[in-house]
Amino acid sequence: MQGLNASYLEIEPYELVCFLLKEGGQYGRDAVNPFELLDYLKLDYLAFDFDTALPPEVNPQSGHPRALLSFSDRLVAVDENLAPPKARFSALHEIAHYVLPTHQHSIYLCDRQGMSHRTRLTFEKTANDFAADMLFKGGMFSIDVAAMGISVKTITTLAAKYQASFEATARRLADRSLQPVMLAVFKNTAGAAQVSADASPAWGVRYCIGSPAFKSRFFTQVTGTAPSEVAAELTSSYRDINDSITRTITIDTSSGQPQQFTTEFFYNQYNIFSLLTPKNT
Ligand SMILES: [Zn+2]
Repeated sequence: MQGLNASYLEIEPYELVCFLLKEGGQYGRDAVNPFELLDYLKLDYLAFDFDTALPPEVNPQSGHPRALLSFSDRLVAVDENLAPPKARFSALHEIAHYVLPTHQHSIYLCDRQGMSHRTRLTFEKTANDFAADMLFKGGMFSIDVAAMGISVKTITTLAAKYQASFEATARRLADRSLQPVMLAVFKNTAGAAQVSADASPAWGVRYCIGSPAFKSRFFTQVTGTAPSEVAAELTSSYRDINDSITRTITIDTSSGQPQQFTTEFFYNQYNIFSLLTPKNT
């Protein structure tokens, strides 16, 4: 008789997330503490200026390195110049490289591009997904969203609770919601048009993320610009991010049927965001 098949012992990343959260004592607190997890895994931690003090044997291939893992030294290091939410995510990203069984036992030097939600590198994407699952405590975040409802207030409240960035929290809400919702993020695309003194800034879609229920029923992305009167009202003077503007808009779905959506627009001083939810369904 042969021994156990290797695939029989494979462990899914999400099972590892739940195991680490539980064994690392993280379910009893709101925000995950990466230091406790590093301690549990017996990994050392360093923070230093990556621009000036990267070890000579680590040669960045691209710009803006943020964090590294040296498997043999059992060491995680994070750039000391990162804002706290990014530093926390970066430490969790390196923990992912350390614990994921398919990742190599070597040195990882991870940069801004690799840690972007739009990275095309598979090993970086799996580390990002793992880090986000840790940051938002597995299924706990979705339970909070279901209880609080879909709104900018929910995003700001949960960003504070999980000590995550506002944008990462907004993405998580749209990506993991069981309800139909789409997050659309707009950036100021005035560019050349701004040369004209009379042109008003245009806020074009930077990216959008729909929940599975939204994408299967309506469409997978929107294009175009935010309504100019809404953009002007949000950006003309300082406005609290929770002070949103709600509109009803009609968009043709993938099947060609017009559908009304309730759309909550809000502004974080960099981007305009909107949350689309179907009306009357
Ligand atoms: Zn990485």
